[in-house]
Amino acid sequence: MSNMKAMVLHKPAPVESLPLKLEDVPCPEPKPSEVLIRVSACGVCHTDLHIVEGEVRPRSLPLIPGHQVVGVIESVGTGKASEEARIGDYSGGIPKTLKRTDGENPHPGMRVGMPWLYKACGECSYCKSGLENLCDDPRFTGLDVNGGYAEYIVAPADFVVPIPDIFSDEEAAPLLCAGIIGYRSLRVSGLLPGERIGLFGFGASAHLALQVARYWGCEVYVFTRSREHQDLARSLGAAWAGTADDVPPRPLDRAITFAPAGGLIPRALKNLRKGGTLAINAIHMDGLPEMPYDLLYWERSIKSVANSTREDAFNFMEVAAAIPIRVKTEAFPLEKANEALLQLKERKIQGSAVLFIPSR
Ligand SMILES: [Zn+2]
Ligand SMILES: [Zn+2]
Repeated sequence: MSNMKAMVLHKPAPVESLPLKLEDVPCPEPKPSEVLIRVSACGVCHTDLHIVEGEVRPRSLPLIPGHQVVGVIESVGTGKASEEARIGDYSGGIPKTLKRTDGENPHPGMRVGMPWLYKACGECSYCKSGLENLCDDPRFTGLDVNGGYAEYIVAPADFVVPIPDIFSDEEAAPLLCAGIIGYRSLRVSGLLPGERIGLFGFGASAHLALQVARYWGCEVYVFTRSREHQDLARSLGAAWAGTADDVPPRPLDRAITFAPAGGLIPRALKNLRKGGTLAINAIHMDGLPEMPYDLLYWERSIKSVANSTREDAFNFMEVAAAIPIRVKTEAFPLEKANEALLQLKERKIQGSAVLFIPSR
Protein backbone atom coordinates (compact mmCIF):
# COMPACT_ATOMS: atom_id res chain seq x y z
CA MET A 1 0.00 0.00 0.00
CA SER A 2 0.97 3.63 -0.24
CA ASN A 3 2.48 5.94 2.29
CA MET A 4 0.69 7.84 5.04
CA LYS A 5 1.37 10.92 7.12
CA ALA A 6 2.26 10.44 10.76
CA MET A 7 3.79 12.32 13.68
CA VAL A 8 6.85 10.24 14.52
CA LEU A 9 8.95 10.18 17.69
CA HIS A 10 12.63 9.31 17.09
CA LYS A 11 14.09 10.48 20.39
CA PRO A 12 12.21 11.52 23.54
CA ALA A 13 12.85 15.14 24.48
CA PRO A 14 11.08 18.04 26.21
CA VAL A 15 8.06 18.84 24.09
CA GLU A 16 9.20 22.46 23.81
CA SER A 17 11.85 21.19 21.38
CA LEU A 18 9.13 19.73 19.12
CA PRO A 19 10.28 16.08 19.21
CA LEU A 20 7.45 14.78 17.00
CA LYS A 21 8.18 15.08 13.27
CA LEU A 22 5.62 15.00 10.47
CA GLU A 23 6.76 12.26 8.11
CA ASP A 24 5.65 10.09 5.23
CA VAL A 25 5.86 6.49 6.38
CA PRO A 26 4.63 3.21 4.89
CA CYS A 27 0.97 2.55 5.60
CA PRO A 28 0.61 -0.50 7.88
CA GLU A 29 -1.07 -3.64 6.57
CA PRO A 30 -3.45 -5.75 8.66
CA LYS A 31 -2.51 -9.34 9.38
CA PRO A 32 -5.19 -12.00 9.86
CA SER A 33 -7.48 -11.07 12.78
CA GLU A 34 -6.40 -7.45 12.53
CA VAL A 35 -8.20 -4.48 11.02
CA LEU A 36 -6.87 -1.43 9.20
CA ILE A 37 -8.47 1.75 10.53
CA ARG A 38 -8.50 5.06 8.66
CA VAL A 39 -8.02 7.49 11.54
CA SER A 40 -10.17 10.62 11.72
CA ALA A 41 -9.41 11.80 15.27
CA CYS A 42 -6.96 10.95 18.02
CA GLY A 43 -7.13 12.24 21.57
CA VAL A 44 -4.04 13.67 23.25
CA CYS A 45 -3.39 12.11 26.65
CA HIS A 46 -1.02 12.98 29.49
CA THR A 47 0.58 9.57 28.93
CA ASP A 48 1.53 10.70 25.40
CA LEU A 49 3.39 13.57 27.03
CA HIS A 50 5.23 11.14 29.33
CA ILE A 51 6.19 9.01 26.30
CA VAL A 52 7.29 11.94 24.15
CA GLU A 53 9.37 13.39 27.00
CA GLY A 54 10.88 10.02 28.01
CA GLU A 55 9.31 9.39 31.43
CA VAL A 56 7.48 6.34 30.05
CA ARG A 57 9.78 4.31 27.78
CA PRO A 58 8.57 2.73 24.54
CA ARG A 59 9.71 -0.78 23.57
CA SER A 60 11.40 0.61 20.48
CA LEU A 61 11.84 3.76 18.44
CA PRO A 62 10.80 5.32 16.14
CA LEU A 63 7.25 5.33 17.42
CA ILE A 64 3.93 6.89 16.46
CA PRO A 65 2.12 7.81 19.73
CA GLY A 66 -1.61 8.11 20.33
CA HIS A 67 -4.05 5.73 22.04
CA GLN A 68 -7.45 7.39 21.77
CA VAL A 69 -8.00 6.59 18.15
CA VAL A 70 -11.29 7.01 16.28
CA GLY A 71 -11.79 6.00 12.69
CA VAL A 72 -13.49 3.74 10.20
CA ILE A 73 -12.39 0.21 9.39
CA GLU A 74 -10.97 0.24 5.90
CA SER A 75 -10.14 -3.43 5.58
CA VAL A 76 -9.85 -6.64 7.53
CA GLY A 77 -6.70 -8.75 7.38
CA THR A 78 -7.00 -11.80 5.18
CA GLY A 79 -5.00 -14.92 4.55
CA LYS A 80 -3.85 -17.70 6.76
CA ALA A 81 -2.58 -16.72 10.16
CA SER A 82 1.11 -17.40 10.37
CA GLU A 83 2.40 -19.56 13.18
CA GLU A 84 3.82 -16.45 14.79
CA ALA A 85 0.55 -14.56 14.62
CA ARG A 86 -1.32 -17.43 16.23
CA ILE A 87 0.82 -17.54 19.34
CA GLY A 88 -1.13 -15.88 22.13
CA ASP A 89 -3.78 -15.00 19.61
CA TYR A 90 -6.12 -12.44 21.12
CA SER A 91 -7.74 -14.40 23.91
CA GLY A 92 -10.41 -15.95 21.71
CA GLY A 93 -12.74 -13.01 21.32
CA ILE A 94 -14.67 -10.65 23.50
CA PRO A 95 -15.18 -11.92 27.06
CA LYS A 96 -18.50 -13.72 27.35
CA THR A 97 -20.12 -11.09 29.52
CA LEU A 98 -19.61 -8.50 26.80
CA LYS A 99 -21.55 -7.81 23.69
CA ARG A 100 -20.87 -5.35 20.96
CA THR A 101 -23.49 -2.62 21.30
CA ASP A 102 -24.64 -3.07 17.71
CA GLY A 103 -24.25 -6.84 17.77
CA GLU A 104 -21.79 -6.62 14.92
CA ASN A 105 -18.32 -7.91 14.48
CA PRO A 106 -15.75 -5.47 13.15
CA HIS A 107 -16.14 -5.07 9.39
CA PRO A 108 -15.21 -2.52 6.72
CA GLY A 109 -17.16 0.73 7.06
CA MET A 110 -17.72 0.30 10.80
CA ARG A 111 -16.70 3.21 13.00
CA VAL A 112 -14.55 2.06 15.91
CA GLY A 113 -12.16 3.26 18.55
CA MET A 114 -8.81 1.90 19.61
CA PRO A 115 -8.02 2.47 23.27
CA TRP A 116 -4.82 2.09 25.34
CA LEU A 117 -5.09 -1.70 25.71
CA TYR A 118 -3.99 -2.89 22.28
CA LYS A 119 -3.81 -6.53 23.18
CA ALA A 120 -3.67 -8.81 26.21
CA CYS A 121 -2.25 -12.33 26.13
CA GLY A 122 -5.45 -14.12 27.15
CA GLU A 123 -3.35 -16.82 28.82
CA CYS A 124 -1.96 -15.44 32.07
CA SER A 125 -3.70 -15.71 35.43
CA TYR A 126 -4.75 -12.05 35.28
CA CYS A 127 -6.34 -12.35 31.85
CA LYS A 128 -8.14 -15.52 32.94
CA SER A 129 -9.57 -13.84 36.03
CA GLY A 130 -10.99 -10.82 34.24
CA LEU A 131 -8.05 -8.54 35.02
CA GLU A 132 -6.58 -8.21 31.54
CA ASN A 133 -5.54 -4.68 32.51
CA LEU A 134 -2.85 -6.36 34.65
CA CYS A 135 -1.80 -8.83 31.90
CA ASP A 136 1.76 -10.17 32.17
CA ASP A 137 2.40 -9.66 28.47
CA PRO A 138 0.28 -6.78 27.22
CA ARG A 139 0.74 -4.40 24.32
CA PHE A 140 -0.30 -0.79 24.62
CA THR A 141 -1.36 1.41 21.72
CA GLY A 142 1.09 4.17 20.91
CA LEU A 143 3.70 2.72 23.28
CA ASP A 144 4.46 -0.89 22.27
CA VAL A 145 2.96 -0.53 18.80
CA ASN A 146 2.31 2.47 16.59
CA GLY A 147 -0.67 4.60 17.59
CA GLY A 148 -3.10 7.08 16.14
CA TYR A 149 -1.07 10.23 15.47
CA ALA A 150 -1.30 9.04 11.87
CA GLU A 151 -3.65 8.56 8.96
CA TYR A 152 -3.89 4.79 9.50
CA ILE A 153 -3.42 2.26 12.27
CA VAL A 154 -3.74 -1.52 12.44
CA ALA A 155 -5.36 -3.09 15.49
CA PRO A 156 -6.47 -6.54 16.68
CA ALA A 157 -10.12 -6.92 15.69
CA ASP A 158 -10.98 -8.28 19.15
CA PHE A 159 -9.76 -5.15 20.89
CA VAL A 160 -11.51 -2.39 18.95
CA VAL A 161 -14.38 -0.62 20.70
CA PRO A 162 -17.64 0.33 18.99
CA ILE A 163 -18.50 4.04 19.21
CA PRO A 164 -22.07 5.09 20.07
CA ASP A 165 -23.66 7.06 17.22
CA ILE A 166 -24.43 10.11 19.34
CA PHE A 167 -20.76 11.08 19.60
CA SER A 168 -18.85 12.79 16.80
CA ASP A 169 -15.34 11.52 16.05
CA GLU A 170 -13.87 14.46 17.91
CA GLU A 171 -16.08 13.87 20.95
CA ALA A 172 -15.46 10.13 20.95
CA ALA A 173 -11.65 10.34 20.97
CA PRO A 174 -11.18 11.47 24.60
CA LEU A 175 -13.65 8.84 25.77
CA LEU A 176 -11.17 6.13 24.75
CA CYS A 177 -8.61 6.77 27.48
CA ALA A 178 -9.60 9.79 29.54
CA GLY A 179 -13.14 8.45 29.73
CA ILE A 180 -12.45 4.74 30.16
CA ILE A 181 -9.65 5.16 32.70
CA GLY A 182 -11.68 7.76 34.60
CA TYR A 183 -14.48 5.21 34.72
CA ARG A 184 -12.13 2.52 36.00
CA SER A 185 -10.85 4.97 38.63
CA LEU A 186 -14.41 5.46 39.89
CA ARG A 187 -14.79 1.69 40.12
CA VAL A 188 -11.43 1.22 41.85
CA SER A 189 -12.33 3.92 44.39
CA GLY A 190 -15.32 1.76 45.35
CA LEU A 191 -17.72 4.66 44.83
CA LEU A 192 -21.34 3.85 45.72
CA PRO A 193 -24.45 5.73 44.59
CA GLY A 194 -25.06 8.84 46.67
CA GLU A 195 -21.55 9.05 48.12
CA ARG A 196 -19.28 12.10 48.12
CA ILE A 197 -16.24 11.89 45.87
CA GLY A 198 -13.31 14.28 45.50
CA LEU A 199 -11.51 14.69 42.18
CA PHE A 200 -7.99 16.14 42.47
CA GLY A 201 -6.88 17.73 39.21
CA PHE A 202 -9.45 18.56 36.56
CA GLY A 203 -8.28 17.66 33.08
CA ALA A 204 -9.66 15.40 30.40
CA SER A 205 -10.28 12.36 32.58
CA ALA A 206 -11.81 14.14 35.57
CA HIS A 207 -14.29 16.17 33.53
CA LEU A 208 -15.72 12.92 32.18
CA ALA A 209 -15.57 11.01 35.48
CA LEU A 210 -17.47 13.85 37.14
CA GLN A 211 -20.42 13.29 34.83
CA VAL A 212 -20.51 9.56 35.47
CA ALA A 213 -20.42 10.16 39.23
CA ARG A 214 -23.27 12.67 38.92
CA TYR A 215 -25.21 10.13 36.87
CA TRP A 216 -24.80 7.70 39.77
CA GLY A 217 -26.28 10.30 42.11
CA CYS A 218 -22.99 11.18 43.79
CA GLU A 219 -21.86 14.56 45.10
CA VAL A 220 -18.66 15.68 43.40
CA TYR A 221 -15.97 17.91 44.93
CA VAL A 222 -13.30 19.20 42.56
CA PHE A 223 -9.83 20.36 43.64
CA THR A 224 -7.85 22.31 41.05
CA ARG A 225 -5.70 25.44 40.99
CA SER A 226 -7.19 26.73 37.74
CA ARG A 227 -10.17 29.09 38.07
CA GLU A 228 -11.31 28.12 34.57
CA HIS A 229 -11.26 24.46 35.53
CA GLN A 230 -13.21 25.22 38.73
CA ASP A 231 -15.84 27.04 36.65
CA LEU A 232 -16.03 24.16 34.17
CA ALA A 233 -16.44 21.72 37.08
CA ARG A 234 -19.34 23.71 38.55
CA SER A 235 -21.00 24.02 35.14
CA LEU A 236 -20.85 20.22 34.83
CA GLY A 237 -22.54 19.72 38.18
CA ALA A 238 -19.82 19.77 40.83
CA ALA A 239 -21.26 20.51 44.28
CA TRP A 240 -18.08 22.36 45.24
CA ALA A 241 -14.83 23.43 43.60
CA GLY A 242 -11.67 24.79 45.19
CA THR A 243 -7.93 24.23 45.38
CA ALA A 244 -6.17 21.24 46.93
CA ASP A 245 -5.35 23.42 49.94
CA ASP A 246 -8.99 24.28 50.58
CA VAL A 247 -11.06 22.18 52.96
CA PRO A 248 -14.35 20.92 51.52
CA PRO A 249 -17.49 21.47 53.63
CA ARG A 250 -17.81 17.74 54.37
CA PRO A 251 -15.36 14.82 54.41
CA LEU A 252 -15.12 12.65 51.31
CA ASP A 253 -16.09 9.00 51.02
CA ARG A 254 -13.80 8.49 48.05
CA ALA A 255 -11.16 10.45 46.23
CA ILE A 256 -9.27 10.17 42.96
CA THR A 257 -6.06 11.99 42.07
CA PHE A 258 -5.61 12.67 38.37
CA ALA A 259 -2.50 14.87 38.33
CA PRO A 260 0.86 13.02 38.36
CA ALA A 261 1.93 14.87 41.50
CA GLY A 262 2.73 12.86 44.64
CA GLY A 263 2.21 15.96 46.77
CA LEU A 264 -1.52 15.58 46.20
CA ILE A 265 -1.68 12.26 48.04
CA PRO A 266 -1.52 13.58 51.63
CA ARG A 267 -3.82 16.46 50.71
CA ALA A 268 -6.39 14.04 49.35
CA LEU A 269 -6.05 11.68 52.34
CA LYS A 270 -6.64 14.44 54.89
CA ASN A 271 -10.11 15.02 53.44
CA LEU A 272 -11.05 11.35 53.38
CA ARG A 273 -13.41 9.90 55.99
CA LYS A 274 -12.53 6.79 58.03
CA GLY A 275 -12.60 3.70 55.82
CA GLY A 276 -12.51 5.82 52.67
CA THR A 277 -10.52 4.98 49.54
CA LEU A 278 -8.15 7.05 47.47
CA ALA A 279 -7.59 5.88 43.89
CA ILE A 280 -4.50 7.17 42.10
CA ASN A 281 -5.02 7.57 38.37
CA ALA A 282 -1.48 7.98 37.08
CA ILE A 283 0.92 5.89 35.02
CA HIS A 284 3.85 7.94 36.27
CA MET A 285 4.31 9.93 39.44
CA ASP A 286 7.02 12.23 40.69
CA GLY A 287 7.53 10.27 43.93
CA LEU A 288 5.47 9.99 47.07
CA PRO A 289 6.19 12.34 49.96
CA GLU A 290 6.75 11.12 53.49
CA MET A 291 3.61 11.65 55.53
CA PRO A 292 2.23 11.00 59.01
CA TYR A 293 0.63 7.57 59.46
CA ASP A 294 -2.45 9.30 60.91
CA LEU A 295 -3.48 10.22 57.38
CA LEU A 296 -3.82 6.54 56.48
CA TYR A 297 -4.95 5.14 59.83
CA TRP A 298 -8.66 4.32 60.41
CA GLU A 299 -8.65 1.86 57.56
CA ARG A 300 -8.26 4.36 54.78
CA SER A 301 -6.79 2.77 51.68
CA ILE A 302 -4.83 3.86 48.66
CA LYS A 303 -5.07 2.01 45.34
CA SER A 304 -3.42 2.76 42.04
CA VAL A 305 -5.28 2.44 38.76
CA ALA A 306 -3.48 0.62 35.96
CA ASN A 307 -4.78 0.48 32.40
CA SER A 308 -8.28 -0.79 31.67
CA THR A 309 -10.08 -3.86 30.43
CA ARG A 310 -12.34 -4.27 27.43
CA GLU A 311 -15.16 -4.65 29.90
CA ASP A 312 -14.39 -1.16 31.25
CA ALA A 313 -14.37 0.17 27.69
CA PHE A 314 -17.67 -1.40 26.70
CA ASN A 315 -19.42 -0.53 29.96
CA PHE A 316 -18.16 3.05 29.91
CA MET A 317 -19.28 3.60 26.32
CA GLU A 318 -22.77 2.47 27.30
CA VAL A 319 -22.89 4.75 30.32
CA ALA A 320 -21.44 7.66 28.34
CA ALA A 321 -24.16 7.31 25.70
CA ALA A 322 -26.91 6.93 28.31
CA ILE A 323 -25.96 10.09 30.22
CA PRO A 324 -25.19 11.41 27.48
CA ILE A 325 -21.80 12.67 28.53
CA ARG A 326 -20.68 16.13 27.40
CA VAL A 327 -17.17 16.11 25.99
CA LYS A 328 -15.29 19.38 25.94
CA THR A 329 -12.57 19.33 23.30
CA GLU A 330 -9.98 21.59 21.72
CA ALA A 331 -9.07 20.49 18.21
CA PHE A 332 -5.64 20.64 16.58
CA PRO A 333 -4.58 19.43 13.13
CA LEU A 334 -2.34 16.34 13.18
CA GLU A 335 0.81 18.30 12.40
CA LYS A 336 0.25 20.45 15.52
CA ALA A 337 0.64 17.49 17.89
CA ASN A 338 3.68 19.05 19.60
CA GLU A 339 1.72 22.26 20.24
CA ALA A 340 -1.24 20.30 21.64
CA LEU A 341 1.08 18.43 24.02
CA LEU A 342 2.76 21.67 25.07
CA GLN A 343 -0.61 23.25 25.90
CA LEU A 344 -1.51 20.14 27.86
CA LYS A 345 1.78 20.39 29.77
CA GLU A 346 1.03 24.03 30.57
CA ARG A 347 -2.49 23.11 31.71
CA LYS A 348 -4.04 25.37 29.07
CA ILE A 349 -6.44 22.78 27.66
CA GLN A 350 -10.08 22.97 28.76
CA GLY A 351 -11.35 19.40 28.63
CA SER A 352 -9.42 17.31 26.09
CA ALA A 353 -7.10 18.09 23.21
CA VAL A 354 -7.91 16.13 20.04
CA LEU A 355 -5.94 15.83 16.81
CA PHE A 356 -8.03 15.68 13.66
CA ILE A 357 -6.95 14.00 10.47
CA PRO A 358 -8.91 14.95 7.36
CA SER A 359 -9.35 12.13 4.85
CA ARG A 360 -7.52 12.60 1.58
ZN1 LIG B 1 -2.44 -11.86 30.03
ZN1 LIG C 1 -4.21 7.83 28.01
